[in-house]
Amino acid sequence: MNTENLETILNTIDLRSEPPGTEPMRQYYFIKKAREFVKTEKERLGCDPVAVITTFGCQMNARDSEKLVGILEQIGYVEGTDEQTADFVIFNTCTIRENANLKVYGRLGRLNKVKRNNPQMLIGLCGCMMQEPEVVEKIKKSYRFVDFIFGTHNIFKFAELISTRFESGTRVIDIWQDTNEIVEDLPVERKFSFKSGVNIMFGCNNYCTYCIVPYVRGRERSRNPEDIVREIKELAADGVVEIMLLGQNVNSYGKDLEQPLSFARLLNEVEKIDGIRRIRFMTSHPKDLSDELIEVMKHSKKICRHLHLPVQSGSSRVLKKMNRQYTKESYLELAGKIKAAIPDMSLTTDIIVGFPGETEEDFQETMEVIKQVRYDSAFTFIYSKRTGTPAATMENEASEAEIKDRFDRLLKEVQVISAEMCSKYQGTIQEVLVESVNEHDETLVTGRMSNNLLVHFEGDFDLIGKLVDVELTVCKGFYYLGEKIERDS
Ligand code: SAM
Ligand code: SF4
Repeated sequence: MNTENLETILNTIDLRSEPPGTEPMRQYYFIKKAREFVKTEKERLGCDPVAVITTFGCQMNARDSEKLVGILEQIGYVEGTDEQTADFVIFNTCTIRENANLKVYGRLGRLNKVKRNNPQMLIGLCGCMMQEPEVVEKIKKSYRFVDFIFGTHNIFKFAELISTRFESGTRVIDIWQDTNEIVEDLPVERKFSFKSGVNIMFGCNNYCTYCIVPYVRGRERSRNPEDIVREIKELAADGVVEIMLLGQNVNSYGKDLEQPLSFARLLNEVEKIDGIRRIRFMTSHPKDLSDELIEVMKHSKKICRHLHLPVQSGSSRVLKKMNRQYTKESYLELAGKIKAAIPDMSLTTDIIVGFPGETEEDFQETMEVIKQVRYDSAFTFIYSKRTGTPAATMENEASEAEIKDRFDRLLKEVQVISAEMCSKYQGTIQEVLVESVNEHDETLVTGRMSNNLLVHFEGDFDLIGKLVDVELTVCKGFYYLGEKIERDS
């Protein structure tokens, strides 16, 4: 939804009448209403109120935060970065591992002191952690200064929740257990002008036994392909050249639609959109990756040469306990098939070490898979117990020290292989999408190759968002230094 269209709609809304019962009109009503409250805030402060959103966790949360910023900016906040001086602080939380929760409690504790000096400051919590009833209880009891708590299913109601908070002056808590609703056409403020995430589906049906996502993000719901294509066309018209299609398991996209459509066929539709130069997606569950998808990737001119294919463990015994629905052998066969069809495809993965019952032999099987597949990079995690998941009640015989030792050995192997994989591109010329001015040296810019490797090279701000050819001159293990070369055209 662009600003002009939204303004036209807002002009038709009369705040003296009751709020509409259907979405997204109801939220447009509350955007208009919240503007009135924020205007009063602005008069009180003598300047635009500032909102700071801190995002924990994955790309889904990052995209959700862009939706929250979209609403905040529409109602009159400006986005800031300093929590100490902000008028509104929001933590969009993650709960995938226990660490994620601990981080949020730590940050909240510090914010309490800030709020004591500025009692008008608003503090909101949303995201996956808020879908856990014991978390909400703890916050209600021990963090009474929090003004808003809402979950993953109703972020589209943000303007309504803000209006309610201003109107009532009391804490607003609104958590939904689940939803089938997908609300389209709400404002979104992108972090990057040239690239964007696009949700193609929400939730997850896979119930891997270690994972809390299905409990906090609900059942799988696919967006209609027409809505996805329309959104991407609008993004392209607004200067976006790279999109990342987002879902917990994009390979099962479309199975729940009235007229089912495979992910591969959706990709074909997205490929046709003018202006989009690069297509990424994540995450691909190995059990659902079809031959049709491999064919589409092989022939596509836009799908990036990078596939994230989480293996989690190399032991078929552990994979069974994890409820991953594939074996070591079928995974290796799939990885081999992809590499045979598309030899320059970079493969990356997620690995969990120390799943309950994992033995040294199981771990050795994971090491074997790593050596055989030769991942370009891997995210490695120590298993974290999540209350309510089936694995939480499984016995773990391995000690913490043993698990840490396995983790260190795994990480070392992963790093050696990724450095070797990275070095393959030395001396080649690659197309790079420039993302930012380098954080440490402002004579350099930083961009990404199709296979997701980072490259730093001499350049300035004007290159951001452009695709340029770069010769990769120095391999630094996990990234390159390069030199921009002019295209003959
Ligand atoms: N849907 C994606 C998939 O199936 O690959 C992954 C989503 S999850 C946000 C990202 C990664 O977190 C998973 O692939 C897994 O490796 C890791 N993870 C999930 N639950 C975990 C747990 N309880 N302990 C450690 N790592 C976990
Ligand atoms: Fe979690 Fe498994 Fe769903 Fe991924 S596929 S979000 S790991 S339950």
